[in-house]
Amino acid sequence: MLAQAIAKFRGGVRVPHHKKTAEAATEPLPAPKLLILPLQQHIGAALRPVVKAKETVKVGQLLADSDAFVSAPLHAPVSGKIKSIKPLLLANGQTVEALYLENDGEAALFREPAPVKVENKEQLLQAARASGLVGIGGAGFPLHVKLAAKEPLDTLVINGAECEPYITSDYREAVEATDRIIAGMLTVMTHLLIPQGVIGIEDNKPRAINALTAALKRHPDPETAQRIQIVSLPSRYPQGAEKMLIYGCTGRKVPPGALPAAVGCLILNISTVSLLQDYLDTGLPLITKRITVSGDNIRRPQNLLVPVGAPISDILDFCGGLIEVEHAKLILGGPMMGIAQFDPAQPVTKQTNAVTCLSAASATLPQETACIRCGRCSRACPMNLLPLEIERSLKNKDTETLQKLQVAACMECGCCSFVCSSNRRLVQYMREGKAIAKEVVK
Ligand code: SF4
Ligand code: SF4
Repeated sequence: MLAQAIAKFRGGVRVPHHKKTAEAATEPLPAPKLLILPLQQHIGAALRPVVKAKETVKVGQLLADSDAFVSAPLHAPVSGKIKSIKPLLLANGQTVEALYLENDGEAALFREPAPVKVENKEQLLQAARASGLVGIGGAGFPLHVKLAAKEPLDTLVINGAECEPYITSDYREAVEATDRIIAGMLTVMTHLLIPQGVIGIEDNKPRAINALTAALKRHPDPETAQRIQIVSLPSRYPQGAEKMLIYGCTGRKVPPGALPAAVGCLILNISTVSLLQDYLDTGLPLITKRITVSGDNIRRPQNLLVPVGAPISDILDFCGGLIEVEHAKLILGGPMMGIAQFDPAQPVTKQTNAVTCLSAASATLPQETACIRCGRCSRACPMNLLPLEIERSLKNKDTETLQKLQVAACMECGCCSFVCSSNRRLVQYMREGKAIAKEVVK
Protein backbone atom coordinates (compact mmCIF):
# COMPACT_ATOMS: atom_id res chain seq x y z
CA MET A 1 0.00 0.00 0.00
CA LEU A 2 2.94 2.36 0.69
CA ALA A 3 5.48 2.79 -2.08
CA GLN A 4 8.44 5.06 -2.81
CA ALA A 5 8.50 7.51 -5.72
CA ILE A 6 8.97 5.76 -9.06
CA ALA A 7 10.93 8.61 -10.62
CA LYS A 8 12.58 11.85 -9.49
CA PHE A 9 12.01 14.94 -11.59
CA ARG A 10 14.85 17.05 -12.93
CA GLY A 11 15.65 20.38 -11.29
CA GLY A 12 13.57 21.87 -8.51
CA VAL A 13 14.83 23.38 -5.27
CA ARG A 14 14.94 22.70 -1.56
CA VAL A 15 12.83 25.37 0.08
CA PRO A 16 12.55 25.99 3.83
CA HIS A 17 9.30 24.33 4.91
CA HIS A 18 8.17 26.64 7.75
CA LYS A 19 5.22 24.27 8.40
CA LYS A 20 4.68 25.57 11.93
CA THR A 21 0.88 25.17 11.68
CA ALA A 22 1.11 21.45 10.83
CA GLU A 23 -0.19 20.30 14.21
CA ALA A 24 -2.70 23.14 14.59
CA ALA A 25 -6.15 21.53 14.35
CA THR A 26 -8.60 23.44 12.16
CA GLU A 27 -10.72 26.06 13.93
CA PRO A 28 -13.84 27.70 12.49
CA LEU A 29 -13.67 31.43 11.79
CA PRO A 30 -16.79 33.18 13.13
CA ALA A 31 -18.66 34.24 9.98
CA PRO A 32 -17.84 37.89 9.16
CA LYS A 33 -20.54 40.58 8.99
CA LEU A 34 -19.94 41.18 5.27
CA LEU A 35 -18.86 38.66 2.64
CA ILE A 36 -17.54 39.61 -0.80
CA LEU A 37 -18.25 37.02 -3.50
CA PRO A 38 -16.61 37.62 -6.91
CA LEU A 39 -18.65 36.17 -9.80
CA GLN A 40 -15.54 34.59 -11.29
CA GLN A 41 -13.67 32.22 -8.98
CA HIS A 42 -12.66 29.68 -11.64
CA ILE A 43 -11.20 29.49 -15.12
CA GLY A 44 -13.95 29.85 -17.74
CA ALA A 45 -17.10 31.94 -18.06
CA ALA A 46 -18.09 34.56 -15.48
CA LEU A 47 -21.36 33.91 -13.65
CA ARG A 48 -24.65 35.82 -13.82
CA PRO A 49 -26.33 36.57 -10.50
CA VAL A 50 -29.66 34.79 -9.99
CA VAL A 51 -30.44 37.01 -6.98
CA LYS A 52 -31.00 40.77 -6.82
CA ALA A 53 -29.75 43.48 -4.50
CA LYS A 54 -31.81 43.68 -1.24
CA GLU A 55 -32.95 40.04 -1.65
CA THR A 56 -32.58 37.79 1.40
CA VAL A 57 -30.78 34.47 0.97
CA LYS A 58 -30.10 31.36 3.04
CA VAL A 59 -26.99 29.22 3.57
CA GLY A 60 -26.30 27.05 0.50
CA GLN A 61 -28.72 28.93 -1.77
CA LEU A 62 -27.63 29.38 -5.40
CA LEU A 63 -26.46 32.97 -5.94
CA ALA A 64 -24.98 32.94 -9.44
CA ASP A 65 -24.61 30.53 -12.36
CA SER A 66 -23.82 30.31 -16.07
CA ASP A 67 -24.96 28.21 -19.03
CA ALA A 68 -21.32 27.77 -20.11
CA PHE A 69 -19.85 24.29 -19.62
CA VAL A 70 -16.61 25.69 -18.13
CA SER A 71 -18.04 27.41 -15.08
CA ALA A 72 -19.01 26.55 -11.50
CA PRO A 73 -22.05 27.90 -9.62
CA LEU A 74 -21.72 30.08 -6.53
CA HIS A 75 -23.71 29.56 -3.33
CA ALA A 76 -24.41 31.60 -0.20
CA PRO A 77 -21.97 30.85 2.65
CA VAL A 78 -24.19 32.62 5.21
CA SER A 79 -27.81 33.75 5.45
CA GLY A 80 -28.60 37.44 5.10
CA LYS A 81 -29.24 40.18 2.57
CA ILE A 82 -27.52 40.97 -0.74
CA LYS A 83 -26.35 44.50 0.02
CA SER A 84 -25.12 45.31 -3.48
CA ILE A 85 -23.74 43.89 -6.72
CA LYS A 86 -20.82 45.94 -8.02
CA PRO A 87 -17.37 45.66 -9.65
CA LEU A 88 -14.39 44.51 -7.61
CA LEU A 89 -10.75 45.02 -8.62
CA LEU A 90 -8.79 41.82 -7.95
CA ALA A 91 -5.07 41.61 -7.19
CA ASN A 92 -4.38 40.16 -10.67
CA GLY A 93 -5.60 43.43 -12.21
CA GLN A 94 -8.90 41.94 -13.38
CA THR A 95 -12.16 43.70 -12.52
CA VAL A 96 -15.11 41.38 -11.92
CA GLU A 97 -18.65 41.79 -10.63
CA ALA A 98 -19.08 40.76 -7.00
CA LEU A 99 -21.97 40.16 -4.63
CA TYR A 100 -21.72 41.86 -1.24
CA LEU A 101 -23.64 39.71 1.25
CA GLU A 102 -24.59 41.05 4.71
CA ASN A 103 -24.61 38.24 7.28
CA ASP A 104 -27.74 38.22 9.51
CA GLY A 105 -26.05 35.83 11.97
CA GLU A 106 -28.98 33.37 11.76
CA ALA A 107 -27.15 30.70 9.68
CA ALA A 108 -30.58 29.72 8.28
CA LEU A 109 -30.21 26.78 5.90
CA PHE A 110 -31.69 26.86 2.39
CA ARG A 111 -32.32 23.13 2.67
CA GLU A 112 -31.60 20.48 5.31
CA PRO A 113 -28.47 18.37 4.68
CA ALA A 114 -29.24 15.16 2.76
CA PRO A 115 -27.02 12.77 0.79
CA VAL A 116 -26.83 13.14 -2.99
CA LYS A 117 -27.34 9.81 -4.77
CA VAL A 118 -24.92 9.10 -7.61
CA GLU A 119 -25.08 5.90 -9.65
CA ASN A 120 -23.14 6.59 -12.83
CA LYS A 121 -20.63 8.92 -14.50
CA GLU A 122 -23.26 11.38 -15.74
CA GLN A 123 -24.76 11.76 -12.29
CA LEU A 124 -21.30 12.20 -10.78
CA LEU A 125 -20.53 14.99 -13.24
CA GLN A 126 -23.87 16.67 -12.46
CA ALA A 127 -23.16 16.42 -8.74
CA ALA A 128 -19.63 17.78 -9.18
CA ARG A 129 -21.02 20.79 -11.04
CA ALA A 130 -23.79 21.36 -8.50
CA SER A 131 -21.22 21.27 -5.68
CA GLY A 132 -19.54 24.39 -7.10
CA LEU A 133 -16.12 22.76 -6.57
CA VAL A 134 -13.11 24.08 -8.47
CA GLY A 135 -9.44 23.07 -8.38
CA ILE A 136 -7.41 24.57 -5.57
CA GLY A 137 -4.24 26.59 -5.90
CA GLY A 138 -3.90 26.47 -9.71
CA ALA A 139 -6.03 27.93 -12.47
CA GLY A 140 -9.26 26.91 -10.71
CA PHE A 141 -10.61 24.41 -13.22
CA PRO A 142 -14.24 23.51 -12.39
CA LEU A 143 -14.21 19.96 -11.00
CA HIS A 144 -16.88 18.60 -13.35
CA VAL A 145 -14.79 19.71 -16.36
CA LYS A 146 -11.81 17.71 -15.07
CA LEU A 147 -13.99 14.67 -14.47
CA ALA A 148 -15.40 14.87 -18.01
CA ALA A 149 -12.10 13.95 -19.73
CA LYS A 150 -12.81 12.01 -22.93
CA GLU A 151 -9.50 10.07 -23.00
CA PRO A 152 -9.36 6.60 -21.39
CA LEU A 153 -8.08 6.96 -17.82
CA ASP A 154 -6.37 4.25 -15.81
CA THR A 155 -4.99 6.14 -12.81
CA LEU A 156 -6.47 8.65 -10.38
CA VAL A 157 -3.56 10.67 -8.96
CA ILE A 158 -4.30 12.55 -5.74
CA ASN A 159 -2.12 15.55 -5.01
CA GLY A 160 -1.19 15.56 -1.33
CA ALA A 161 2.34 16.87 -1.89
CA GLU A 162 1.75 20.38 -0.50
CA CYS A 163 5.31 21.48 -1.32
CA GLU A 164 4.82 25.25 -0.85
CA PRO A 165 6.39 26.64 2.32
CA TYR A 166 4.05 27.54 5.23
CA ILE A 167 0.89 25.84 3.85
CA THR A 168 -0.57 22.90 5.82
CA SER A 169 -4.27 22.97 4.82
CA ASP A 170 -4.05 19.78 2.69
CA TYR A 171 -2.04 18.10 5.45
CA ARG A 172 -4.83 18.91 7.92
CA GLU A 173 -7.39 17.50 5.45
CA ALA A 174 -5.33 14.29 5.34
CA VAL A 175 -5.24 13.88 9.13
CA GLU A 176 -8.70 15.28 9.94
CA ALA A 177 -10.76 13.81 7.07
CA THR A 178 -8.77 10.67 6.21
CA ASP A 179 -11.68 8.29 5.61
CA ARG A 180 -13.53 10.88 3.51
CA ILE A 181 -10.52 11.18 1.18
CA ILE A 182 -10.47 7.41 0.60
CA ALA A 183 -14.26 7.34 0.12
CA GLY A 184 -14.06 10.24 -2.38
CA MET A 185 -11.33 8.48 -4.34
CA LEU A 186 -13.30 5.25 -4.55
CA THR A 187 -16.43 7.16 -5.65
CA VAL A 188 -14.52 8.81 -8.51
CA MET A 189 -12.73 5.56 -9.47
CA THR A 190 -16.00 3.60 -9.46
CA HIS A 191 -18.02 5.95 -11.65
CA LEU A 192 -15.22 6.91 -14.05
CA LEU A 193 -14.11 3.26 -14.32
CA ILE A 194 -10.56 4.08 -13.21
CA PRO A 195 -8.91 0.86 -11.97
CA GLN A 196 -6.18 2.32 -9.72
CA GLY A 197 -5.53 5.31 -7.49
CA VAL A 198 -2.37 6.79 -5.99
CA ILE A 199 -1.95 9.45 -3.33
CA GLY A 200 1.31 11.34 -3.81
CA ILE A 201 2.51 12.86 -0.57
CA GLU A 202 5.87 14.34 0.45
CA ASP A 203 7.96 12.32 2.89
CA ASN A 204 8.06 15.22 5.37
CA LYS A 205 4.45 14.39 6.35
CA PRO A 206 4.77 10.98 8.05
CA ARG A 207 1.63 11.49 10.18
CA ALA A 208 -0.52 12.02 7.09
CA ILE A 209 1.09 9.02 5.37
CA ASN A 210 0.42 6.86 8.45
CA ALA A 211 -3.19 8.08 8.78
CA LEU A 212 -3.98 7.31 5.13
CA THR A 213 -2.23 3.92 5.32
CA ALA A 214 -4.26 3.03 8.44
CA ALA A 215 -7.51 4.15 6.75
CA LEU A 216 -6.80 1.81 3.83
CA LYS A 217 -6.00 -1.07 6.21
CA ARG A 218 -9.26 -0.69 8.15
CA HIS A 219 -11.41 -0.21 5.04
CA PRO A 220 -14.39 -2.64 5.18
CA ASP A 221 -13.65 -3.88 1.65
CA PRO A 222 -9.90 -4.74 1.60
CA GLU A 223 -10.00 -5.83 -2.04
CA THR A 224 -11.31 -2.43 -3.14
CA ALA A 225 -8.90 -0.57 -0.85
CA GLN A 226 -6.01 -2.46 -2.45
CA ARG A 227 -6.61 -0.48 -5.62
CA ILE A 228 -5.20 2.58 -3.84
CA GLN A 229 -1.51 3.09 -3.20
CA ILE A 230 0.22 5.81 -1.20
CA VAL A 231 3.43 7.07 -2.76
CA SER A 232 5.98 8.77 -0.52
CA LEU A 233 7.70 11.48 -2.56
CA PRO A 234 10.95 13.33 -1.81
CA SER A 235 10.38 16.79 -0.31
CA ARG A 236 11.54 18.86 -3.21
CA TYR A 237 9.74 21.90 -4.63
CA PRO A 238 7.67 21.84 -6.95
CA GLN A 239 6.79 18.21 -6.25
CA GLY A 240 3.08 19.12 -6.27
CA ALA A 241 3.12 20.49 -9.83
CA GLU A 242 0.97 18.26 -12.05
CA LYS A 243 3.73 17.00 -14.34
CA MET A 244 6.18 16.37 -11.49
CA LEU A 245 3.57 14.59 -9.39
CA ILE A 246 2.49 12.29 -12.22
CA TYR A 247 6.12 11.50 -13.02
CA GLY A 248 6.93 10.73 -9.37
CA CYS A 249 3.84 8.56 -8.84
CA THR A 250 3.65 6.73 -12.19
CA GLY A 251 6.89 7.37 -14.09
CA ARG A 252 4.84 8.80 -17.00
CA LYS A 253 5.85 12.05 -18.70
CA VAL A 254 3.08 14.44 -19.74
CA PRO A 255 4.12 15.88 -23.16
CA PRO A 256 4.55 19.69 -23.41
CA GLY A 257 1.19 21.41 -23.86
CA ALA A 258 -0.77 18.22 -23.05
CA LEU A 259 -3.08 17.50 -20.11
CA PRO A 260 -2.63 14.60 -17.63
CA ALA A 261 -5.37 12.67 -19.47
CA ALA A 262 -2.91 12.28 -22.38
CA VAL A 263 -1.03 9.75 -20.21
CA GLY A 264 -4.16 8.15 -18.75
CA CYS A 265 -4.17 10.15 -15.50
CA LEU A 266 -6.80 12.22 -13.75
CA ILE A 267 -5.22 14.45 -11.11
CA LEU A 268 -7.21 15.91 -8.22
CA ASN A 269 -6.16 17.75 -5.11
CA ILE A 270 -6.53 15.81 -1.86
CA SER A 271 -8.91 18.43 -0.41
CA THR A 272 -10.99 18.53 -3.61
CA VAL A 273 -11.68 14.78 -3.60
CA SER A 274 -12.56 14.99 0.09
CA LEU A 275 -14.92 17.95 -0.46
CA LEU A 276 -16.60 16.12 -3.34
CA GLN A 277 -17.38 13.25 -0.96
CA ASP A 278 -18.58 15.76 1.63
CA TYR A 279 -21.01 17.17 -0.94
CA LEU A 280 -22.28 13.66 -1.77
CA ASP A 281 -22.74 12.92 1.95
CA THR A 282 -24.48 16.18 2.88
CA GLY A 283 -25.69 17.99 -0.25
CA LEU A 284 -23.98 21.15 1.05
CA PRO A 285 -22.08 22.91 -1.77
CA LEU A 286 -18.65 24.52 -1.43
CA ILE A 287 -19.25 27.44 0.93
CA THR A 288 -16.35 27.09 3.35
CA LYS A 289 -12.62 26.55 2.84
CA ARG A 290 -9.83 25.29 5.06
CA ILE A 291 -6.95 27.75 4.84
CA THR A 292 -3.58 28.12 6.55
CA VAL A 293 -2.83 31.54 7.99
CA SER A 294 0.91 31.69 8.51
CA GLY A 295 4.15 33.54 7.80
CA ASP A 296 6.59 35.41 10.04
CA ASN A 297 4.26 38.39 10.44
CA ILE A 298 1.08 37.00 12.03
CA ARG A 299 0.62 36.76 15.78
CA ARG A 300 -1.28 33.42 15.89
CA PRO A 301 -0.58 31.23 12.86
CA GLN A 302 -3.31 28.60 12.49
CA ASN A 303 -5.54 26.55 10.22
CA LEU A 304 -9.05 27.94 9.84
CA LEU A 305 -12.32 26.89 8.27
CA VAL A 306 -13.52 30.14 6.68
CA PRO A 307 -16.59 31.03 4.62
CA VAL A 308 -15.81 31.72 0.95
CA GLY A 309 -15.91 35.51 0.59
CA ALA A 310 -14.48 36.29 4.04
CA PRO A 311 -12.32 39.44 3.85
CA ILE A 312 -8.64 38.83 4.65
CA SER A 313 -8.82 41.60 7.28
CA ASP A 314 -11.36 39.61 9.36
CA ILE A 315 -9.08 36.57 9.18
CA LEU A 316 -6.04 38.57 10.29
CA ASP A 317 -8.00 40.05 13.23
CA PHE A 318 -9.05 36.55 14.35
CA CYS A 319 -5.40 35.47 14.25
CA GLY A 320 -4.33 38.32 16.52
CA GLY A 321 -3.37 40.73 13.73
CA LEU A 322 -0.12 41.43 11.92
CA ILE A 323 3.03 41.83 14.01
CA GLU A 324 4.20 44.76 11.89
CA VAL A 325 1.89 46.61 9.51
CA GLU A 326 4.35 48.93 7.72
CA HIS A 327 5.56 47.39 4.42
CA ALA A 328 4.09 44.01 5.35
CA LYS A 329 3.27 41.67 2.47
CA LEU A 330 0.05 39.64 2.25
CA ILE A 331 -0.11 36.73 -0.17
CA LEU A 332 -3.12 34.61 -1.10
CA GLY A 333 -1.37 31.22 -1.37
CA GLY A 334 2.27 30.48 -0.57
CA PRO A 335 5.41 32.58 -1.11
CA MET A 336 6.51 30.66 -4.23
CA MET A 337 3.34 30.79 -6.36
CA GLY A 338 0.79 32.87 -4.42
CA ILE A 339 -0.53 36.29 -5.47
CA ALA A 340 0.41 39.34 -3.39
CA GLN A 341 -2.60 41.38 -2.27
CA PHE A 342 -2.73 45.17 -2.28
CA ASP A 343 -5.76 45.42 -0.01
CA PRO A 344 -6.63 43.37 3.13
CA ALA A 345 -10.31 43.89 2.27
CA GLN A 346 -9.88 41.39 -0.61
CA PRO A 347 -11.85 38.16 -0.04
CA VAL A 348 -10.90 34.50 0.22
CA THR A 349 -12.14 32.69 -2.90
CA LYS A 350 -12.82 29.03 -3.68
CA GLN A 351 -9.22 28.64 -4.85
CA THR A 352 -7.58 30.06 -1.72
CA ASN A 353 -5.67 27.59 0.44
CA ALA A 354 -3.58 30.04 2.48
CA VAL A 355 -2.98 33.59 3.58
CA THR A 356 0.76 34.10 4.03
CA CYS A 357 1.81 37.18 6.00
CA LEU A 358 5.41 38.28 5.52
CA SER A 359 7.34 40.97 7.37
CA ALA A 360 9.14 43.73 5.47
CA ALA A 361 12.45 41.98 6.22
CA SER A 362 11.45 38.70 4.60
CA ALA A 363 9.42 40.28 1.80
CA THR A 364 12.03 42.79 0.64
CA LEU A 365 13.97 41.36 -2.28
CA PRO A 366 17.71 42.05 -2.60
CA GLN A 367 18.90 44.38 -5.36
CA GLU A 368 19.05 42.83 -8.86
CA THR A 369 22.55 42.70 -10.34
CA ALA A 370 23.83 41.70 -13.76
CA CYS A 371 23.53 38.07 -14.84
CA ILE A 372 26.83 36.24 -14.36
CA ARG A 373 25.76 33.34 -16.59
CA CYS A 374 26.21 30.82 -13.80
CA GLY A 375 23.44 28.60 -15.26
CA ARG A 376 21.81 27.90 -11.90
CA CYS A 377 18.41 29.01 -13.19
CA SER A 378 18.42 26.49 -16.04
CA ARG A 379 19.65 23.69 -13.78
CA ALA A 380 16.80 24.41 -11.33
CA CYS A 381 14.07 24.64 -13.98
CA PRO A 382 11.90 21.50 -13.80
CA MET A 383 10.59 22.26 -17.30
CA ASN A 384 14.07 22.27 -18.84
CA LEU A 385 13.80 25.92 -19.92
CA LEU A 386 16.54 28.56 -20.22
CA PRO A 387 15.30 31.45 -18.06
CA LEU A 388 18.36 33.66 -18.75
CA GLU A 389 17.86 33.34 -22.52
CA ILE A 390 14.13 33.97 -22.14
CA GLU A 391 14.88 37.14 -20.16
CA ARG A 392 17.26 38.33 -22.88
CA SER A 393 14.70 37.68 -25.64
CA LEU A 394 12.06 39.52 -23.61
CA LYS A 395 14.34 42.57 -23.24
CA ASN A 396 14.93 42.48 -27.03
CA LYS A 397 11.17 42.00 -27.62
CA ASP A 398 12.14 39.01 -29.77
CA THR A 399 8.87 37.09 -29.74
CA GLU A 400 10.02 34.54 -32.30
CA THR A 401 12.89 33.43 -30.05
CA LEU A 402 10.58 33.51 -27.01
CA GLN A 403 8.38 30.97 -28.74
CA LYS A 404 11.38 28.87 -29.82
CA LEU A 405 12.51 28.85 -26.19
CA GLN A 406 9.05 27.46 -25.28
CA VAL A 407 8.27 30.16 -22.76
CA ALA A 408 4.62 28.99 -22.76
CA ALA A 409 5.75 25.79 -20.96
CA CYS A 410 6.83 27.84 -17.90
CA MET A 411 4.58 26.97 -14.96
CA GLU A 412 5.72 30.01 -12.95
CA CYS A 413 7.02 27.83 -10.13
CA GLY A 414 9.65 30.41 -9.16
CA CYS A 415 12.59 27.95 -8.87
CA CYS A 416 14.73 30.06 -11.23
CA SER A 417 14.23 33.26 -9.21
CA PHE A 418 14.83 31.36 -5.97
CA VAL A 419 18.31 30.16 -7.00
CA CYS A 420 19.48 33.11 -9.10
CA SER A 421 22.95 34.29 -8.03
CA SER A 422 22.08 37.83 -9.17
CA ASN A 423 18.60 38.04 -7.62
CA ARG A 424 17.01 38.57 -10.99
CA ARG A 425 13.19 38.63 -10.98
CA LEU A 426 13.16 35.75 -13.41
CA VAL A 427 9.65 34.47 -12.73
CA GLN A 428 8.25 37.93 -13.47
CA TYR A 429 10.18 38.01 -16.74
CA MET A 430 8.80 34.55 -17.58
CA ARG A 431 5.24 35.85 -16.99
CA GLU A 432 5.88 38.86 -19.23
CA GLY A 433 7.47 36.63 -21.87
CA LYS A 434 4.49 34.27 -21.81
CA ALA A 435 2.05 37.17 -22.17
CA ILE A 436 3.93 38.64 -25.17
CA ALA A 437 4.35 35.26 -26.90
CA LYS A 438 0.61 34.54 -26.36
CA GLU A 439 -0.39 37.89 -27.91
CA VAL A 440 1.57 37.02 -31.05
CA VAL A 441 -0.02 33.55 -31.30
CA LYS A 442 -3.49 35.23 -31.14
S1 SF4 B 1 20.87 32.08 -12.22
FE1 SF4 B 1 20.75 34.30 -12.51
S2 SF4 B 1 22.88 34.92 -12.70
FE2 SF4 B 1 22.85 32.69 -13.03
S3 SF4 B 1 22.58 32.45 -15.26
FE3 SF4 B 1 20.54 32.46 -14.40
S4 SF4 B 1 19.89 34.60 -14.54
FE4 SF4 B 1 22.09 34.59 -14.77
S1 SF4 C 1 9.36 29.76 -13.22
FE1 SF4 C 1 9.31 28.86 -15.28
S2 SF4 C 1 11.37 29.16 -16.06
FE2 SF4 C 1 11.47 29.47 -13.85
S3 SF4 C 1 12.02 27.46 -13.03
FE3 SF4 C 1 9.79 27.55 -13.00
S4 SF4 C 1 9.15 26.63 -14.95
FE4 SF4 C 1 11.33 27.13 -15.14
